[in-house]
Amino acid sequence: MASPTATPILPPATIGILGGGQLGRMLGLAGRELGYRIAVLDPDPACPAAAVADRIEVAGYDDVAGALRLAAECAVVTYELEHVAAAVVEALEGVRPVRPGLMALRVTQDRLAERAFLEAHAAPVVPWRAVHTVDDLRVAAAELGFPLRLKAATGGYDGRSQFRIADNTAMIGAIARLNAHHGQSLLAEHEVEFVAELSVVVARAQDGTVVPYPVGRNRHDEGILVESAAPAPVDESIAAAATALATHLAAGVDLVGVMTIELFLMPDGTLVVNEMAPRVHNSGHWTIEAAITSQFEQHVRAICGLPLGSATLRAAAATVNLLGTGPRRPARLDGLDAALAIEDIHLHLYDKHEVFERRKMGHVTATGATVDQALARATAARAALHWSEEGQG
Ligand code: AMP
Repeated sequence: MASPTATPILPPATIGILGGGQLGRMLGLAGRELGYRIAVLDPDPACPAAAVADRIEVAGYDDVAGALRLAAECAVVTYELEHVAAAVVEALEGVRPVRPGLMALRVTQDRLAERAFLEAHAAPVVPWRAVHTVDDLRVAAAELGFPLRLKAATGGYDGRSQFRIADNTAMIGAIARLNAHHGQSLLAEHEVEFVAELSVVVARAQDGTVVPYPVGRNRHDEGILVESAAPAPVDESIAAAATALATHLAAGVDLVGVMTIELFLMPDGTLVVNEMAPRVHNSGHWTIEAAITSQFEQHVRAICGLPLGSATLRAAAATVNLLGTGPRRPARLDGLDAALAIEDIHLHLYDKHEVFERRKMGHVTATGATVDQALARATAARAALHWSEEGQG
């Protein structure tokens, strides 16, 4: 059930954001536009959101005392990543509204809990097993068949903490490597051959009103999102099914804010849910330029109890991520002249001071008359941009 609508939180109240990465930065920018003040908790005082925050609380994502200090000056607290310790959100809920709440966090920060939740809500998922030991993995392999994907239950993102297991030989060492970093609980699932990856960003207000964005089509490279385009070129019935799933799941976690579900479209036209994220999401960055209300503004509206905006597209759009290349060094991007000369290109840099291989440094979004045109523009811009070998010294 949706919580009763509380009094709106009006500007210039302070919004607290747990996590100061690029999502926190873009959320902070949207909040600032509406006249809110922004306080951010992050262990890194030079994190991407620091430049747009009124205050930064330098503390870890599991630091309850630090989070309480942050909350003391905030009217509402939200999070930009689901790896915030549940104990932090639990403690904050005693003193301030936290949106989305603890349930959404708990369900999505553990892949095993998420799968159980999805099944309990009749959402289709890839066949999976919980794995704790090598014996469990052997049983999972026998029951599910190779190839398998073995994923850490907690702490993994951007393809980290995930292994493809092609055969029995590849099973050796896989558990040890994941356990070494992330503890015991693992999810093993069958590797599927999907025809496309889709995602749906959906906003839900305190009174249960849901505003879904048009479905996007994503492409990942070794687990990291590289491209997102909307509207996804899929049949209307598929888009409708994806949207219905997202709406249903948002209600299931009693969402207040924005949530994204990632799906695989299978060759027979069915969908399976891969992941849920109760926050603004990389696959929704095109909403900044292409939707009437960006996912970031929408999230701020939802958590502050303001009316949700329209999620209708102004144009087709594509976002491509700017990933780092090469060794760790000071970040300097070259090629801006050529990239920004392309029509309808919007460059977003996250002000990360150092670049390294595959680090998410920024993105470009292009709009266009068609998804293909937008994608061609965004891809051409990315091709023109490169990280300087020298850095800025
Ligand atoms: P995840 O960490 O679960 O978000 O996975 C990252 C990416 O890896 C997905 O977006 C897919 O491209 C790929 N992937 C994950 N699980 C599977 C699977 N069971 N079968 C095929 N590809 C997968």
